[in-house]
Amino acid sequence: MEPACRIFGCKAAVPAELAQESFCPLHFAVSVEQKCADLRRETVGGAPDEGRRAEIVRYLGEAGQTLARVATGNQRLPDELKARILNTFLTLMNLRENMERAAARQKTKMEVANQGTKP
Ligand SMILES: [Zn+2]
Repeated sequence: MEPACRIFGCKAAVPAELAQESFCPLHFAVSVEQKCADLRRETVGGAPDEGRRAEIVRYLGEAGQTLARVATGNQRLPDELKARILNTFLTLMNLRENMERAAARQKTKMEVANQGTKP
């Protein structure tokens, strides 16, 4: 028997690529999008420190790789799910970009502040 998706009431099959996550492709995409929304809220106020940023970058990379494996895996995906997955990739890319931009802004701000204290 194929393992079931961990979302209550979901009967969709879990592909081998998501066995560890126990999600069907749709609910994996949804969970990544939710996590990205949380991370976005976290990074919107100010850039996270380097350690946290490295953690987020690692998460984005892992989620993207898993998603790519699902997208090109054995399980046939309906067109709307393909579109959803592409959209999730876009979310991952945009989050990465926003975070880099916030970090660059903070760096500039710090440089300007440092210059102000120099004689
Ligand atoms: Zn599911």
